[in-house]
Amino acid sequence: MRALLALLLLLGAPAPARGQAPSPGKPPSDFVRREAEPAPLPEPLEGLVAGMKAGALATHVAFLASPALLGRGLDTPGLSAAAGYAASHLSLAGIPPLPPGDGKGALAAYFQAVPVREIREPGGTVTIERREGATATTRTLVSGVDALVPPATERIVSGPAVFAGYGIRETSPARDDYRGLDVKGRVVVLLEGLPPGEEWRTKALRSRYAAEDAEDRWAAKVETARSLGALAVVGVEGVEWAARVTGKDRPPAFVFRGVVDESREAEPLLVRVSPAGGQALLGAGPAPSDQPRSLPGVTVTVRAQGRERLAVSQNVVGFLEGSDPERKGEAVVVGAHVDHLGREEGVLHPGADDNASGVASLLEIARTLASSPRRPKRSVVFAFWTGEEEDKIGSTFWVSRPPWPLSKTTAYLNLDMVGHPWTRKEIEDLLADAGLPDRDAFLAGLDPADFVEPGLARYAPELGDVLVRAGRGTGLALHLDWTEGVTGGSDYRPFARKRVPFVRFFGSFFPGYHGPEDTAEALDASQVLRMARLALATTWLLADR
Ligand SMILES: [Zn+2]
Repeated sequence: MRALLALLLLLGAPAPARGQAPSPGKPPSDFVRREAEPAPLPEPLEGLVAGMKAGALATHVAFLASPALLGRGLDTPGLSAAAGYAASHLSLAGIPPLPPGDGKGALAAYFQAVPVREIREPGGTVTIERREGATATTRTLVSGVDALVPPATERIVSGPAVFAGYGIRETSPARDDYRGLDVKGRVVVLLEGLPPGEEWRTKALRSRYAAEDAEDRWAAKVETARSLGALAVVGVEGVEWAARVTGKDRPPAFVFRGVVDESREAEPLLVRVSPAGGQALLGAGPAPSDQPRSLPGVTVTVRAQGRERLAVSQNVVGFLEGSDPERKGEAVVVGAHVDHLGREEGVLHPGADDNASGVASLLEIARTLASSPRRPKRSVVFAFWTGEEEDKIGSTFWVSRPPWPLSKTTAYLNLDMVGHPWTRKEIEDLLADAGLPDRDAFLAGLDPADFVEPGLARYAPELGDVLVRAGRGTGLALHLDWTEGVTGGSDYRPFARKRVPFVRFFGSFFPGYHGPEDTAEALDASQVLRMARLALATTWLLADR
């Protein structure tokens, strides 16, 4: 087993006993120290990595994040211009579209049409019916007031309710809120956040269950409920409800969704309700208990509604054929999303880090590989996704109708937000949380910007050796973050759900994340270069094995 105790705790997976902690002085294999001298990479990769320059990356970022591109919002001319930019640069680099062309084809051939649905004025209700003997009482919560129903055109989910406390299953600290409960085909009512007790206040558990962002906060709980067959989750939120529902979580005027709504099958519906809604569900006792229990006679019906309009967006795809006739039928797919948030209430969101940095890296990886005197054995597919910010629409569409077979996809590499390094404090906290015995040796002489935490598919251990080689060859210190990826926050998620081995390249959530402050000026250009080089080396090593 590759992952060690601390790492498992970080990831929230079942952990072995504490006695299996790493022996002192020897770092767990998932922590890779920076070498004083980078280990040489095989030629021609060594030369290709050295030839990648920060200036070219910065030029792409400056264009993509400029006001002219309007923040690259979905279904805007700005996003079309950015997609056209990617296609033209593939063409200029001599990279043909997929299916393989001659590299001089019309730009349109690079585009994969991706249908999207715009849902206007999304809303809905949550109706709680409580039967006691011959009497029935009904309470209806309205989305945007005391409930938040996820946007859908027309959807009704109804079922008997059951209360599963905080909805947490962990081995350390030990807790199983589902013990003795049958939630299959039922609506599971859960409390938000973490149970009382200091042992729950670790950084890892807080980020797993009590994150600021609602999707992050609920994802693990919804995933647990899903795995147990729940129909829907009603999440009861706390005192911050009023601020959230009138502030950053208020229902938008419109949203976009894909036509392949994978989440509809893969996830139960998550509805969030106010504390008052929670009392209506759980009964307003003097001190409502968090003890899981069945809720006899309580039925919950969720209705979602909105007006729908269809539109078409596009992924941009390039293809570099492998050099080995035996292996070129397999490919490494490397992707980055082009879209961002556009203008929100008239304010430009440039999205320099998110994700002009990843697109710039992918363009330079493509150009560099195309310029190589020898190509890797396997083929490489370059995918520039649409609609990541909305619901991973472009990548979800890809895996549902793969233009390149998933069974012939050696790995999917994702570049998203690669322009802000970790701070020293964040690295120190990670090492402390992980219980790394020789932390000083790991940190000695380490520039925080030389630290990267790639995420790797837990089910594809072979990726680890490749990442370690790529990290050592590009002079980086690494922490390998093994993860299932199925609740992940970027375009690797649809691939993870199809069990395609994936690697996630990501820097950090910097303070300007998803705000107007995500500008090219705020980016660390040398960080983009480090990540682009690491991703290039990883791509090559996976494609040339
Ligand atoms: Zn992003």
